[in-house]
Amino acid sequence: MGFTVEQECPQCGAPIELDETDHLLKCPYCNVQNFLFAPNYFRFVLPHKASGKNIIYAPYLRFKGNAYYCQGRTIGHRVVDITRVGLQFKGIPVSLGLRPQALKMKFITPDTEGEFLKFTLKAADILAKAAKLSSGSSSDRIFHRAYIGETLSLIYFPMYVEKNRLFDAVLNRPMINIPEDQDVFQSAIKKNPAWKLKFMATLCPKCGWNLEGERDSVVLTCGNCETVWEASKGGFVPVSFTAVPGEGDNTVYMPFWRTSVTGKGLEINSFADFIRITNQPRVVGKEWENEKMSFWSPAFKIRPKIFLKLSKMLTISQRHFDTEEMIPKKNLYPVTLPRAEAVQAMKLTLASSTLNKKKILPLLPQVGFDVLDSGLVYLPFTDTGHEMVQQQMRVSINKNTLEFGRKL
Ligand SMILES: [Zn+2]
Ligand SMILES: [Zn+2]
Repeated sequence: MGFTVEQECPQCGAPIELDETDHLLKCPYCNVQNFLFAPNYFRFVLPHKASGKNIIYAPYLRFKGNAYYCQGRTIGHRVVDITRVGLQFKGIPVSLGLRPQALKMKFITPDTEGEFLKFTLKAADILAKAAKLSSGSSSDRIFHRAYIGETLSLIYFPMYVEKNRLFDAVLNRPMINIPEDQDVFQSAIKKNPAWKLKFMATLCPKCGWNLEGERDSVVLTCGNCETVWEASKGGFVPVSFTAVPGEGDNTVYMPFWRTSVTGKGLEINSFADFIRITNQPRVVGKEWENEKMSFWSPAFKIRPKIFLKLSKMLTISQRHFDTEEMIPKKNLYPVTLPRAEAVQAMKLTLASSTLNKKKILPLLPQVGFDVLDSGLVYLPFTDTGHEMVQQQMRVSINKNTLEFGRKL
């Protein structure tokens, strides 16, 4: 289950409730739409019930999504849904448990009063432990781990010190005694962190039209000048895209990331190299020697098995669709998987594509990719009621797996 966030509309001040995965804030009162942006990840606080106290916040890593791993000769996955403490301090709860579900979180803003303890543990270690992906837990070595998430954020848990005791400021209950004459937290405190949450007016930077998207969209589209945008520190930046025209009224356009790369550690400088390295039972076409290697991945959240299957199928086929640089006028499926996560998925796709897993998987730790370019491709699917069938390749997606992808 996801968490709820309470945020005031920056325009009219009305209280709005969001899901933790939401990026688009649509105010039901004044109709103004804003895109929420923070560099790297969102930071939330749990509300405290200790007014007048000097609040100290402890950081927790929040992750909900899938942990993928390449181990032995297999590619596996596991659902991870955690809030784990991000520093070493005995007596602080290791997990926030159900607290964030029972309370409504708020975004941290420069106005949030209190002191913030530093996140000192390694996020990757916390995730590996939570997903039980520490090496040594099984006889087979883990060659690669990837975390492809619904949400990755930091939640800050309020506490205060009174009479040498550390209190949980949500419940106003003592947690542990702390030594007298010793300021245990002082060395690790950030006083006035400049963490900002940015509200971006969703106006097309090119034509001024209102950008469109769903609550959990990570890119927005302009139906007027046919452009696609993603948020960055400095504002909206254009995303390159193409679309494959579909046929029939029941067409839904599903977005995919296509990322062109060169490989390091494994010489993958062309599609022909990829076919040879992964040992595909295909005759290498001469023209493939000059063709850039592109990895494909769904740009939407979907069950891990289908995610891997679609990525692998589109990557191996490297099909040349007849594309147009236009935004389909209707039935555009939202982009809910950020570009950075498609980049994370490339090693998984390489691993799942290769027929020679025994030889290739142990090489994964040394493999890296330089991204040459990346963009979206909208592929047409026919909605048959319970399935989505890709019109050129005839592959189908069960619609239940899409609903699952958006709610997990
Ligand atoms: Zn409003
Ligand atoms: Zn526009």
